[in-house]
Amino acid sequence: MINIFQPSLDDKELGALKEVFESNWVGRGPKTEEFEKKFSEKIGVNSKNVCTVGGCTQGINAILEILDLNSDDEVIIPSLSFIGIANSVVRTGSKVTFCEVDERTMNTNLNYISDVVTDKTKVLILIHYGGYPCTDMDEIIEYCNDNNIKIIEDNACSPFSKYKGKNTGVLADFGVWSFDAMKVMTTGDGGMIYCKDKDVMSKLRKHLYFGLTSKSGLSNKVDNRWWEFDVVSSGGKFVVNDIMSTIGLEQLKKVDGFIKRRKEIADFFNANLSKLDWVKVPPTIKGEVESCYYMYWIQFENQTIRDAVAKFLRDNDVYTTFRYYPLHWVNFYKNLVGDTTSLKNTEAAAVKTLCLPLHPSLSDSDIKLIVKLIEECSHEL
Ligand SMILES: *Cc1c(COP(=O)(O)O)cnc(C)c1O
Repeated sequence: MINIFQPSLDDKELGALKEVFESNWVGRGPKTEEFEKKFSEKIGVNSKNVCTVGGCTQGINAILEILDLNSDDEVIIPSLSFIGIANSVVRTGSKVTFCEVDERTMNTNLNYISDVVTDKTKVLILIHYGGYPCTDMDEIIEYCNDNNIKIIEDNACSPFSKYKGKNTGVLADFGVWSFDAMKVMTTGDGGMIYCKDKDVMSKLRKHLYFGLTSKSGLSNKVDNRWWEFDVVSSGGKFVVNDIMSTIGLEQLKKVDGFIKRRKEIADFFNANLSKLDWVKVPPTIKGEVESCYYMYWIQFENQTIRDAVAKFLRDNDVYTTFRYYPLHWVNFYKNLVGDTTSLKNTEAAAVKTLCLPLHPSLSDSDIKLIVKLIEECSHEL
């Protein structure tokens, strides 16, 4: 079976882990601090503005919690979003509003956002779909600043993607990365948060660890009664440990190579699949942007063809999928948000799109096979 996503881990991670085991410190410690430092350098920000977190969903959850939203405050997300993000909004007690996306890029834009903004809108959570940056970030950020709307970039699928030379995830108020098993780089689970405002970051950092105001144990500078503590918020435990961070440090060294291979594969698919007149390859992204090539997708005339291609590939041991199934089609959210008649592009994309395998472990013969099978599909249809 050719997997759609797959982690790339080897002796390098194993060797580094041996060192951590021998140090007898596997909890949150020096490796995590080093990981935060190296990661912040790689994305070109101060390490004070980043913090590890147990995952992208946890990170967005924590950010929404410290924003103190009221029950009538609204949070905008594309309906084409990861389910955990919508759930995080609901868990803070605020309202989810779905916005539309472009049918081809599956990214949202300023028009679709402003269409659903009301005077209750407090937060926008956007995705750079498949690693391809939203191309009007400057305009979106200016508009949100003017309207007092905080922006969280769900950067789970766009690590090291660039917008005008800057990393996505650090363009606005907050950014959150995921290092879960399926992502461009992995720590098993885990993630990273960027926060632009240092004071908010300081509060957030505490909130990620029970809201504690000081460190405990030996690192506590207090000479007596070091077991006493105080909290600034009813924070949770959203942290990672040195086992995960050690894996992250190794992955960080390799990630440019991963992305290079991803691009080669995407270029190969583009060159070959664009010859088929019944297949649409991803649109060329205009503007000064660069993708990390997290996902490769193709689009078809209609759902019947898409579904037939998916089935034919799976029958031939190639696994494909569609990300992200529209949330307004999920019963829980359908009941919650009511009328969504304006999400026409989202619905069109959801029935016509198929994500193909894309990860650095795919061999040249794997990707040739995938192309060959798709070519054969035309006889099946
Ligand atoms: C994978 C993914 C997430 C979830 O990340 P976790 O680290 O598993 O919580 C969130 N958003 C997007 C867009 C994703 O692709």
